[in-house]
Amino acid sequence: MAATVAGSEQSSPPPPLLYTQGQLDFCRRIPKIELHAHLNGSVRDSTIRELSTGLEGGAVSLPDLQRLTQQASRTLGECFQLFDVIHRITTTHAALTRITREVIEDMADDNVVYAEIRTTPKARPEHGMTTESYLDAVFKGVADYYAASRRTQDIQVRLLLSIDRRQSAAEAMGTARLAVQLRDEGVAGLDLSGNPSVGQWETWRPALEYARQQGLKVTVHAGEVWNPEEAAAILQWRPGRLGHMCCLDAALEKHLLDSGIPLELCLTSNVLTRSVPSYADHHFPSFWPGHPVVLCTDDSGVFASSLSREYALAAAAFNLSDEELQQLAVAAADYTFLEPGERAALRERMEAALLVESVDNSRSPFCLFCDANGACGRRGSADSDGGAGGGRRTCDGGERSVR
Ligand SMILES: [Zn+2]
Repeated sequence: MAATVAGSEQSSPPPPLLYTQGQLDFCRRIPKIELHAHLNGSVRDSTIRELSTGLEGGAVSLPDLQRLTQQASRTLGECFQLFDVIHRITTTHAALTRITREVIEDMADDNVVYAEIRTTPKARPEHGMTTESYLDAVFKGVADYYAASRRTQDIQVRLLLSIDRRQSAAEAMGTARLAVQLRDEGVAGLDLSGNPSVGQWETWRPALEYARQQGLKVTVHAGEVWNPEEAAAILQWRPGRLGHMCCLDAALEKHLLDSGIPLELCLTSNVLTRSVPSYADHHFPSFWPGHPVVLCTDDSGVFASSLSREYALAAAAFNLSDEELQQLAVAAADYTFLEPGERAALRERMEAALLVESVDNSRSPFCLFCDANGACGRRGSADSDGGAGGGRRTCDGGERSVR
């Protein structure tokens, strides 16, 4: 996210809920891929409350924290209060391990079948934590998830190590070297993130270049704030993926479109952090269809969202059909940092999941609205009464829904 907006502590109205429960339910049933999720921004509300019980001081009182973590939506100022609390509760290896396991559990429950979770390994010597022990704790969380899960194939997880823009060139190179060392342990790439108003691209570029020369994939947060020179330089460098890219002029947008570089777009994050004015004004339709785009959450815990909710918001804001949502989800397999054979296998698995769901329910392929008797609850179907829940009829398969 862009942790930058001056005067952000004032309250602003929460974003409108544009989708219906039916749209959200549908999006939950689509197998999805998450490629832009920060570990520490994805912490459960209940875990924040529990782990902060013994905390003293800080920017938010415990009663306020109780209230804040039970709200369905949050202002930007409240999001920053939560980030402050999360920073203060992630001081033990046990907390990191627990948070990692829970984040994966929540993604799996949301029908995410593949995730690249990013985190900045932090050395906090005052708490006996090194960058290596930080990552050991995160890896233990991944292992704990699989040890406890009865459905070991439900979600594949890879890590991306994030260089924080506050880091020096030497610190960034340390993170890049760690990522390269751990590539066989489940680290799939390197990320550049953090406050977009801090630092200079040239500071971290050598570390990113080193990682790329070693065969690691790189994604970069860019265009979160108006900085056309930096956005142009990052585009010129051609990362494997780009995060956000909200603040572009016409020339940069054309450059990006010509590049074909996949975009990680996080609607709620961009709205809440005011990188875009509203969901309806988001730049998603400037790129999709035609340009590779993957919907992501950024910080699902702090922003009180989920990947299914982001899909539902996109469906409502941009009038996407059910089939377009499915295409969007499946295409994301091609933008992962997996090896080509693994990408193809993931894509096949997602397509098979959609078909199996259909066969199991005696439905036509790719209609997820049908019940076990083949009655289709798709909105706007032929004999629909026009209500939000739509009518009931026998499904005709791949017909596009009418919105
Ligand atoms: Zn981010």
